Amino acid sequence: MENTQEIINLCNTYVLNTYTRTPIVFVKGKGSYLWDEEGKRYLDFFPGWAVSGLGHCHKRVVSAVSRQLKEIIHVSNNYYSKPQAQLAERLSSSSFGGRVFFCNSGAEANEAAIKLARAYGAAEGRYKIITMEKSFHGRTLATLTATGQEKVKKGFAPLPEGFVHVPFNDINALKEAIDDITVAVMIEPIQGEGGINIADDDYIRELRVLCNAKDLLLIFDEVQSGMGRSGKLFAYQHYNILPDAMTLAKSLGGGLPIGAMVVADKFVDCLKPGMHASTFGGSPIVSAAANAVLDAIEKDRLLDNANKMGEYLFKQLSRLKRRYPKIINNIRHKALMVGVELNIDGNAIVEKCVNKRLLINCTQGNILRIMPSITVNKGEINKAIRILSEVIAK
Ligand SMILES: *Cc1c(COP(=O)(O)O)cnc(C)c1O
Repeated sequence: MENTQEIINLCNTYVLNTYTRTPIVFVKGKGSYLWDEEGKRYLDFFPGWAVSGLGHCHKRVVSAVSRQLKEIIHVSNNYYSKPQAQLAERLSSSSFGGRVFFCNSGAEANEAAIKLARAYGAAEGRYKIITMEKSFHGRTLATLTATGQEKVKKGFAPLPEGFVHVPFNDINALKEAIDDITVAVMIEPIQGEGGINIADDDYIRELRVLCNAKDLLLIFDEVQSGMGRSGKLFAYQHYNILPDAMTLAKSLGGGLPIGAMVVADKFVDCLKPGMHASTFGGSPIVSAAANAVLDAIEKDRLLDNANKMGEYLFKQLSRLKRRYPKIINNIRHKALMVGVELNIDGNAIVEKCVNKRLLINCTQGNILRIMPSITVNKGEINKAIRILSEVIAK
């Protein structure tokens, strides 16, 4: 392989054209930084679409995975492995007890949750799942149907039955949508793709009461909000309630592909042997990576850092908003899950930031998504703010 353009040409010729890509070839990552093929350094404030939540190539992940690579890479789920056993115990005891199902991605974790809910309701013929407008739950047929955005569904009919969408943070709309075939409510406590929309305290509390009263599973999709980004290990912990099931993926594996569904004790018997499976799910190598991520969060006090740096970033962005009130409309955040709503097109801003070697994201057309790794420091935030400010000034 000779150069950047050759690599890009190969990809554009042989990889199915389902992504909009920026023409940069990355060859190295460390912490909040990435390097391209030509040696240029980029500050990454949207690391791996929220996958590299500890930053790139975190040393605890690298060493745990290197160690595990030399022992055993894969053990099928007909047998047992220590990293998977340890990870399940840690996820259960750091959340709401119960048991864990392992898979490889966010969509698969949500598929598992949908199957769990349907299995729970099957005896009574209940299968309807209520989800939120502007939600995002994945790209498989069931999860794109669960997703509350039309654009992901176009061209894929017929879609599976049994999903309805209601406005986010609207308890009356939810009440009205419940009927005698409803079995679950699935919600992101902080909507990611939807533009960093944060569920209200009252709403989640009433939602929990309602689900208890109507015998509905309350499923939290924490694929994006989980693993420390919100300042707590899981975003539901901001609300003083417990969900019945929670899905995780993205930064769970520190860059390696792993998904998980945590299920509360009451529902663990809904899925019995033979009812669900994943060939790769929770393999020793990805489980070792996820254990290292949990180690880092605990031992390096990364929740503290996420909270402190989240406040700092919010303060700096608020100053920017005061300086450019016509451009910045609103800032929403929980620790390092940050959305900056603009009065102008956000994609143009993202593009100009890339030219100045700052990577951020735009969602819903006008919302900048800024989600640095939870290991980020003040210097890196200052640098990002300086670049963003230069771009907005123009
Ligand atoms: C990214 C995401 C998913 C889908 O995860 P994949 O790993 O891409 O399948 C599901 N839910 C939420 C909230 C997400 O952010």
